[in-house]
Amino acid sequence: MSDKAIFFDTSRCTACRGCQVACKTWNELPSSIELNGNPSTGSYQSPMDLSGDTRILVSFSEEAGGSKGVMWAFGRRSCQHCTDAPCATMCPAGAIFKHEETGLVTVDDSKCVGCQYCSTACPFDVPRYRATGPLGQKTVINKCTGCVDRIEQGRAPACVSTCQPEALKFGDRDEMIALAKERVEVLKGRGYDNAVVYGENEVGGLHVIQVLKYGVAAHGQIEDPQVSPTVALTQIMKPITAVGTGVTVVGLAAMFALGIGYKRNKVVYNADTKDTIDAETGQVVKHGDGQDTESVKEHIFENLPGKKGGNDE
Ligand code: SF4
Ligand code: SF4
Ligand code: SF4
Repeated sequence: MSDKAIFFDTSRCTACRGCQVACKTWNELPSSIELNGNPSTGSYQSPMDLSGDTRILVSFSEEAGGSKGVMWAFGRRSCQHCTDAPCATMCPAGAIFKHEETGLVTVDDSKCVGCQYCSTACPFDVPRYRATGPLGQKTVINKCTGCVDRIEQGRAPACVSTCQPEALKFGDRDEMIALAKERVEVLKGRGYDNAVVYGENEVGGLHVIQVLKYGVAAHGQIEDPQVSPTVALTQIMKPITAVGTGVTVVGLAAMFALGIGYKRNKVVYNADTKDTIDAETGQVVKHGDGQDTESVKEHIFENLPGKKGGNDE
């Protein structure tokens, strides 16, 4: 299967929000119960932001439409499915990963350890978290999965399937880019000079390809999104971690100590030993395995090459 993409044409969107509802229905997520964002001026956007229950929303903003007066500029706020997904790079537990057949960035929330590194890495501020478990005791990621479970059954994503004016489509990424370029030319021919394709090259290429009728900012998208340098550092360190799991712990602790890019700078989690480690002192603050009495330092040294139990044996 070649790389796939979701296509979104803002000039066809009627803001019916069927896509929001379809996403919640397919993924069995509850509706948010909240006032809309701006009680003094009013807003038709609801909810106002992504959340642990909301993976996609249709944003509303007003745009000067020249002789046509004020026009609505609708937007799609959801995961952009980056080709070089920083969230997947930063995830220490393999809970976010690329779906090999499509290039979409999907999730296995059963692996999520709730560290929230992904939310700091995402240039689009997408990942959110929700409580799970019988007592709500575990916090796990919630973001668009690309509906890869549907795609594997030969179906389109739920949001795409429900869109009546065909503002949303799903297909080969190359074809979606070509379609978007054609559509932008049509819009420019009608006098929408700021119309632009978004997603072909941003952050190394996205798997959501958009036609933005009034320009990037008008539809709530980010001009020239950037990835944190922490992500590049982690990319360099990941091969080094093949030498030993302990090096990962040291690296993460070092990044925490430097305070580069992370929101939570208190503890790191070692998925192999299941230990929770104080990032500043390197001490184990919680042993995941009751039988495990070794300190993190001992774990690190036992995994170094040439040491007993090291990976080169
Ligand atoms: S279902 Fe289609 S028309 Fe309705 S809000 Fe979503 S993208 Fe727009
Ligand atoms: S692709 Fe699926 S999970 Fe993602 S926004 Fe659409 S319906 Fe929701
Ligand atoms: S938009 Fe954010 S959450 Fe989605 S793939 Fe890119 S970095 Fe990950």
